[in-house]
This record gives sequence, C-alpha cells and structure tokens, in this order.
Amino acid sequence: MSPGMKNTFAEVAVPLPVFKTYTYRVPDHLHGMVKPGVRVSVPFGKRNISGLVFAVKGESTLEKVHHLLDVIDHEPIFSETDLRFMLDTARLYGAPLGEILRTMTHPGFFREEKVRFRLTQRGRARVEDETAGDQGAWLRIFSGRGPLSRSHAERELKKIGLKAPASKLARMTAEGLIEQVHVLKMEVGARKTVFIEMGKEGAVRVTPQAEKLVEAVLKEGRIEKKQLLLMTSVSGSVLKRLVEGGLLAEVTVEDLDGGAEGHLEEEKADYELTGHQVEAISRISEAIRGDRHRVFLLHGVTGSGKTEVYLGAIENALNMGKGAYYLIPEIALTPLFLGRIQRRFGENVAVLHSRIPPSARRALWIRVRSGVTSLIIGARSSLFAPLSRPGIIIVDEEHDQAYKQDDGVKYNGRDLAIVKGRHYGIPVVLGSATPSGESYFRAKTGDFDYLELPERVAKSSLPRVEIVDLAKNRGKRGFKRYVSPQLEDGIESALSKNEKVMLFINRRGFSPWILCLDCGFVERCDDCSVSLTLHRHEESLICHYCGLRKQVPLVCPRCDGPKIAPVGIGTEKLEAFLNRKWKDRKVSRMDSDSTKRKGAYGSLLRSMQEGNIDLLVGTQMIAKGHDFPQVTLVGVIMADLSLAFPDFRSSERTFQLLTQVSGRAGRRGKVGSVIVQTFQPDHYAILKAAAHEYKEFMDIELSHRSELGYPPFSRLLLIRVSGAKQPGVEKRAQEVVETLYSRFDLRTDLKILGPSPAPIWKMKRQYIYQILVKSPPDADFSPLMDVINAEFGGGKRKGGIRVEFDVDPYQLMY
Ligand code: ADP
Ligand code: ZN
Repeated sequence: MSPGMKNTFAEVAVPLPVFKTYTYRVPDHLHGMVKPGVRVSVPFGKRNISGLVFAVKGESTLEKVHHLLDVIDHEPIFSETDLRFMLDTARLYGAPLGEILRTMTHPGFFREEKVRFRLTQRGRARVEDETAGDQGAWLRIFSGRGPLSRSHAERELKKIGLKAPASKLARMTAEGLIEQVHVLKMEVGARKTVFIEMGKEGAVRVTPQAEKLVEAVLKEGRIEKKQLLLMTSVSGSVLKRLVEGGLLAEVTVEDLDGGAEGHLEEEKADYELTGHQVEAISRISEAIRGDRHRVFLLHGVTGSGKTEVYLGAIENALNMGKGAYYLIPEIALTPLFLGRIQRRFGENVAVLHSRIPPSARRALWIRVRSGVTSLIIGARSSLFAPLSRPGIIIVDEEHDQAYKQDDGVKYNGRDLAIVKGRHYGIPVVLGSATPSGESYFRAKTGDFDYLELPERVAKSSLPRVEIVDLAKNRGKRGFKRYVSPQLEDGIESALSKNEKVMLFINRRGFSPWILCLDCGFVERCDDCSVSLTLHRHEESLICHYCGLRKQVPLVCPRCDGPKIAPVGIGTEKLEAFLNRKWKDRKVSRMDSDSTKRKGAYGSLLRSMQEGNIDLLVGTQMIAKGHDFPQVTLVGVIMADLSLAFPDFRSSERTFQLLTQVSGRAGRRGKVGSVIVQTFQPDHYAILKAAAHEYKEFMDIELSHRSELGYPPFSRLLLIRVSGAKQPGVEKRAQEVVETLYSRFDLRTDLKILGPSPAPIWKMKRQYIYQILVKSPPDADFSPLMDVINAEFGGGKRKGGIRVEFDVDPYQLMY
C-alpha cells in the first residue's frame, strides 16, 4: 500500500454460520476509525447486522461493494493476535468463522438491528391536518417522540381504541405516512457496583439465613453485593429484606474502573513453600518474564500444593504488569475456592461462569479489556475474554472432560489454551493429579516441560485402598447385593467414631431400567436408542439423553404382567438403602438432580463442610476438588460402570475417577481409607489406582494405545452424519466416505473406519452414523474438512441431513 493511500475497504466477519469475511467500503467520514478488532454495523442481505473487522485494505477487486454503516467501538475489542487466534481456531475445528465469533463472545455482543416506526414528511403533514379525522389520531402517537418499536406502537394504538393495530400499521406504512427505520442498539460501558455494609440498626427478624449475611458483613466490612451472596449462598430476597429493614445498607458506586476497593486484606501463605513448589514457580515465572511460549505439565497428587504454584505464578505475572487466565472445570468454582483466590488477590478478579447473566458478563468484559482486571478465573469459555496483555494461562485439572465443549463448535479449552499461548508467546501450565495420556506422553517426549510435586505437603499419607470383588455378592438381594460385608463394616466403624462417609456411584436415578419379569420387556425412549431410567423422586421414567418422561407403568405395557422390577442401581436407590439401614443417620445425595434447584449445591457443600451429613451418596460431582475434613471413608459401589464404555479412554477415565474419589478420604492429618467394589478386581486401571501408581498405570495404558493406534499415537476426527430418516443418513455417510476416498490418498496416512451406526444410533429422533478418521499425531485435518464442508453443507442441514465434525473427540457414543 503506498503511503497516503486510504484504507478504503474493510474485511468484516459476521456472527452467522458462514466461513468467509465480507468486503465493505468505508465511507469517508469513518476513515481512521475502522480498525481490525472493532465492531461495525453493516448491511447484510435485507438486514443490518453488526460484525467484527478483521482487516482493512486499500483496494478491492470486487465490482460491487456495499458501504459499511457505522463503527461501534472507539478502540479495538480484540487485538490482531486475538483475530489470528480466531482464524486458527476456525481452521482447527473446520468451523465457520461466524460460529467461532459467536463461541468466543457472549450473547448480546453482536446485535441485530431492531425495526422501529416513525412519521414521514407526509405523515407529519397529516397530523397537522384538521380534516384527517381518525387517521390523524392514529398518527399522533408517533409525534413528539423517537421511533417506536412495533409492539410499542401497537400498544399505543390499542390504548386509543383501535381493534386491529397490526393491519393499521401496515396500511399507514403502505400509504407512506410512516416508515420503518433500522437501528442497531449496542450496550454502553458504564458499570455500577453495589456494595453492602452495616446499616444504622433496624428492627428486622433475624433468621439463620439473615444471621449468616450479617456475620459475613461484620467480618468483611464493606463487601460487594454479588460477592456476599456468592460467599454465603443466601438468596437475594433475604438480603433485600435486611436492607429494607435498615440492618444492612446498600451503597452504589458508579465507575468504569471496576470498583476494586482492595479492602480485603491480602493474605500471604503463612508457610514456607516446598523446594518443589519454589522450583516450579521459578521456572514458570522465567517463561513469563521472557515472553516465551512453553507448556508445563504440573503433575502432583491432590494436596501436593499445585494451587499454591498457580497462585505464585499468577502473582509474579501480575507484578510484571501482565494478566493471567486461570481455567478450572466449572464445578470446582466453589465459594471456598473463590474465597481463597480473593483473599490472595483482592476483589480485582473477574470470575466467569455459566450462571453469570449477559449484562454482568458484558461489564466484566469491559473491565477486562480496559485492563482494570487482569486476572480471569472461570470455565473453558473464559479463555476468550480479551485480556489486553496476557502473561500466563493456567489449566487446572487439565485431564477433565469438562474442557471439551459438547455442542456447537466442539472445541477443547485445554487445547485452545495451548494454541492461544503460542499466538501470544506466553507459558501455559497444565495441572493435574492424573494427567491425560496425551499430555503425559508429550511431557515424556520433551514436548512439554514436566514439573512434579511428588508428595502431599501436609505429610498426610495417601489413603489405604482395598479392592473388593463384587462377584462374591452375586445371588444376594437388596442392600447386600450392592454393599459388600467389608464396606458395610467400614461404614459402621466410621460412623461409630462419628466420622463421615462418601459413597460414589457413577449413575443417577433409582435404577437404569425397569424390566418385566414375565416377558422381558424393557421400557425404552421413543426418540433415542436407550432404555429409560427410573427416577423415584420424580415418579417418572426419564431419558438421560433427551429428557423424555413417561409414567411408571403399573403393569407391563406389552404383556400386562404385574411383575415389573427396577433393575440395577443408581444414586437414588443407594440413598434409599442407606436410609433404611442407618435410620438415625443423616443421608444426603449429590447429583445433577438433587442440585438442580438454585442454591442446592452450595447448601449441600456447606452441610458437608460443617459435618452435618453422615453419609453422602453421589455421582462424580462428589469427586471433584472438595476438601471435606471429616470424611475418612470413601466407598466406590461399582467401579465397572466407567470401564464398560466402548471408548478407548475408558481405562484412563476409570483411573482418574478412582484417584479423584479416593482423594476425598482423610485429608488434614487423618488417614483415610477407600473401598473399591468391582467385578474386575484384576483390571490394571483398578489395581494401579488402588496402589496410587499413576506412572505405572500410564505406561501400560500408553502401550495399549500404541498397539491399537489411538491418541496420542494418532489423531482422530469423528464425522457425524445425522437426520430423521435412516436410509438417507446411511447413504449420505457412504457418500462422505466415497468423497474422502476419491479426493485423498488413503493408502498412506489416513485410515477411515465406518460408516457405521453410532453406539447410540438414534438420539432425539435423529439417526446417527459415524465415520472415524485416524491419522498420524501431527496431522492437519483442515484440507479434508474443507472438502467435506464444501460438498455436504458446511455443518448445515442439506436435504434434512447434517454432516458435522468432532476434532479430537471425547464422546464416541453418538
Ligand atoms: P492441590 O492444588 O495440589 O490439591 P493445594 O495447593 O490446594 O494443593 O494445597 C493443599 C493444602 O496444603 C492447602 O490447604 C494449602 O494451603 C496447603 N499448602 C500448600 N502448600 C503448602 C506448603 N508449602 N506448606 C504447608 N501447607 C501448604
Ligand atoms: Zn430420549
């Protein structure tokens, strides 16, 4: 581009399922304002929408180019590095750039135009016209105010007694008395922070809930309202009542710089870091200082002090004026955890999780972008909040499946953290007690830097794990069928010492199916190829895949026989057994059903924390990250449930689950014990988990994977073909495979398995076929995905059938 030549054209990406950017001419008055990374409004088809500028340039070869309408941001929201990261992500997952934009922003970031009505010149003249009669009155609703939305206009017309306001609007428009205008509304950035402090004494009834709030305010002094509610898990209505009663007071601070008062005492750890911790922090910090991209794998058992390493590295990054991303699985974002972060870094932390409403999310983004907040904590999508100067990315529990998005663009937050780290030239720390096979292998081969925290800091020993063969329970009935004598004794003995017990079973509901003992009939979902789970609590049969509900039949729907039996066990049945067996003990259940109600999860955690629950039954929800001091025994009811999955990761998952659940037993000095019940007592995943031998397990696991050619020794791409009619789906899947054979040289590296019906071959009335592409570990799937996208609809339905990708899949069932 020659000097002085204007950047007359902009390449704009729009948040629609399209792959390319669109070229627009920049009108003279907007020159200099249109820069990469700003949002702009543009005409698109018949609408006006907002999009993101990816590039500006002096020339375009296109004949006919539309004018860009307006610029929304004064400063770029995304840096050019962010934009390259987006392009790279689109390529990596074979997804339309527009989908990536939506995935990487929040709802409301891109707005569509709104249609409004206003008077025309002619309309205004008619309003003045005394002889206009009724029509004059209709038109008068538009005068003296800005354009009205359709619903507002209709409401006003109704108010003056009009019967069919919609048709009147249409008629006035047709007669040229009013016209439609298009406005594009975007959010503005002001932010209010509401704080709570002690009021000037009021007469209010102080319930236990209220007491909790008051106590917290007394302890913390002035505290941000959101933070207070999060910390105490008390509902907003209780707080409102106290404020109205004058016991507490609300203070609103309007500001753009995030309201960080820093009144929370910064709390430094009051212990010496171990040598391993110091070493890990210093190696990571060196990379931060040198703006050097490295991936560190921080491997250490639960309680080995990993979090302390993250916090130390973050502190160093902040001191160097750089920001940090700290990703954790959503479920681990507990008030306890956030409290620890806040005591260390004050309130100047952006916490992003799925329950944050869009308006608050927007406000957080503004703080982040403006550099006010430089520490972001949250689940996978918080990686996309635009820190202006990131210095480090931390991915805790890097092996966790929760990093994989399971709909839309099926990205993996851990993998994208590495991609982003590379783009920005900054270190990425992956931490886990049980690293994924992929990460461990890359650390072993020197691709990642391996940092180990080999022992627990508090010198508490790892729990004793006993394996019990469930085959010995065969033939027994009821409670005794699922709880071995060893486990029963263990529970008795723990309870007698007033210690707490956690029992883990990886299946929710009462029983996974109901069976007619006369004819063998099993009640199944109408829309999915799975059986229905009995939920006693809700008195229904429920499909765990689509949510379909049926009444529990009293007699067999097929043979009218009366002997219908719930077969197998889930959390509800176990809870019922325990309640019957230990009548005077407090039994609770933690799974996605029992925690659905708002606040239920927090209050369960608190009850556990305070030691109010003797026996806690739960799914993997109980396995993650909680530190309940009084739990000394953990029982695993059936370790086989996760082993049985037809998936190459099932051993790894079982090992991880068992390790994680075991980690709940006996922290803080007390030695814990774990009893693992299984039908496969000789399986290496179970034996090695019981012996706390991660490396030995992973060596066996990796040698199996190597033999079978699974990741990390290959890369997988799952192509999923789905539609309402089975023959069409099968045919399309066949065509996809034929296309691959005809366009790529498959004798060399690529290997194609399928097409075949998915293990769950029908879901939500859609038939599903799978094609699995295996390639060498360093393969690039994008040429292949480009071809499939071009021929088969680019992820959109074509003739009722959709062809989608799952790159590096975790879910091979459907
Ligand atoms: P992890 O993240 O590996 O589970 P944490 O960092 O949470 O481990 O540490 C476990 C517990 O040990 C925490 O309560 C923490 O405060 C404490 N801790 C961490 N490092 C040390 C240390 N060097 N000395 C004493 N206690 C420590
Ligand atoms: Zn279903």
